[in-house]
Amino acid sequence: MSPVPVQIVYLICAVLFILGLKRLSRPRTAVAGNQMGAAAMLLAVVVTLLDRQIVSYEIIIAGLITGAAAGILLAVKIKMTAMPQLVGLFNGLGGGASALVAGAALLELVSLHGGSRSPGSIFIVATSFSGIVGAVTFWGSVVAFGKLQGFVTGKAVQFSGQNAVKLILLMISLGLGGWLFFSPMSGYLYWAMLLFSSLLGVFLVIAIGGADMPVVIALLNSYSGVAAAATGFVLANNLLIISGSLVGAAGLILTNIMCKAMNRSLRNVLFGGVGRELSVKAEEEETYAGKVKSATAEEIAMMLDGAGRVVVVPGYGMAVAQAQHAVRDLMNLLEARGSVVEFAIHPVAGRMPGHMNVLLAEADIPYEKLKEMDEINTTMEQVDVAIVLGANDVVNPLARSRSDTPLAGMPIIDVDKARTVIVLKRSLGAGFSGVPNPLFAADNTLMYYGDGKEGILDLIAALKET
Ligand code: NDP
Repeated sequence: MSPVPVQIVYLICAVLFILGLKRLSRPRTAVAGNQMGAAAMLLAVVVTLLDRQIVSYEIIIAGLITGAAAGILLAVKIKMTAMPQLVGLFNGLGGGASALVAGAALLELVSLHGGSRSPGSIFIVATSFSGIVGAVTFWGSVVAFGKLQGFVTGKAVQFSGQNAVKLILLMISLGLGGWLFFSPMSGYLYWAMLLFSSLLGVFLVIAIGGADMPVVIALLNSYSGVAAAATGFVLANNLLIISGSLVGAAGLILTNIMCKAMNRSLRNVLFGGVGRELSVKAEEEETYAGKVKSATAEEIAMMLDGAGRVVVVPGYGMAVAQAQHAVRDLMNLLEARGSVVEFAIHPVAGRMPGHMNVLLAEADIPYEKLKEMDEINTTMEQVDVAIVLGANDVVNPLARSRSDTPLAGMPIIDVDKARTVIVLKRSLGAGFSGVPNPLFAADNTLMYYGDGKEGILDLIAALKET
């Protein structure tokens, strides 16, 4: 255990982490919260470096430079729309690092003391736990990354007996961990355990459909925290235990929020085999044939002119088109003409939790204008014009009526209840779930084809002329 002054600095860091997390819960204070957390982490790293007997600063500096270079490169290159898989990968690296650090601590013990010193039971239990959870997190995250990036199939890969295979892999991993407890100097057991846990991570995530990846990523985030906390016990580092637990708890809360947003239990997400395919082509023809109407910017401008209440429902397409600034200008124009404009935010719109909030905040749209799904749904009948901007799954009424689609049971924004619905997207193409959307063929819907940003800019121009 480190000396008292170091423990006091760790305590200050822990308090800063908690205050930072608290501030992250509100967009207005989020930046300060993030800075607080980063400053606390810097303090923690510096104090730890001063406290421990550092073998080689050269290796640490080389690691810092490599890590910083990779981080900067990723931050600059990555598209906003690919953020979820990046976050997923970061979780995985955290889990992998925890497993390796715990393994290195075990190796050190074996090689330095060669059996002369028996490790405490907390050390060995924590090492095994960190190894299992860390390996599951790493490989699960790699598969989740692959699914969202498109190099692993987005479908749920299912075969009979799959749950039994997962259970067997879990039992073997736990069995090897138990064996390690009684024979801690047999370091090879640890690596064998890592191998089976890695397979478990792959099997766990490969069986889940792409549409459920947000929940999986939130859960893996939680796992990475749990693995870090376990490694904190291995290294007897209080701050790692505290920060790992904070990540573990925050990830679990987020998982719960996401499950509620999709109206699914976690068990159903993990073992339910969602991702069943509809015969999409046939369904599309049946859904749309002869029923879809479209309108031009000028026609829509006439409808908006004099509309009392307008609600914009943004989705993934707004992020792709980067239409958030244009939609802010549209909001200002409509409000100057006497309309009330609000934004309806679905918890899983876009490709990451809070995706729409981040984009709209970036465009300085006042936070009070963002209404959560449950709130806006109660008054949807009173909306004159709803503009669906690049959203699809989150407004798909099939989620309410069909149990054989990946969207089954997901609560949606009831945009179909508005008086007129304008859907701005490039085609009748499906959203993330691959399911056709009967909203596009509804009596009160008009399709407004085009890129999200261009479409809104054309609408602004047309409105100015009316
Ligand atoms: P969807 O993925 O359902 O639909 C997005 C639509 O945007 C597409 O149908 C596409 O239609 C349109 N689009 C694409 N590019 C543009 C463009 N440049 N201009 C205008 N429109 C465009 O998005 P939603 O936000 O409605 O739903 C999110 C989905 O993603 C849900 O199924 C959710 O479960 C899933 N998901 C959510 C995550 C999260 O954490 N939020 C993470 C991962 C998945 P077209 O090609 O015709 O233009």
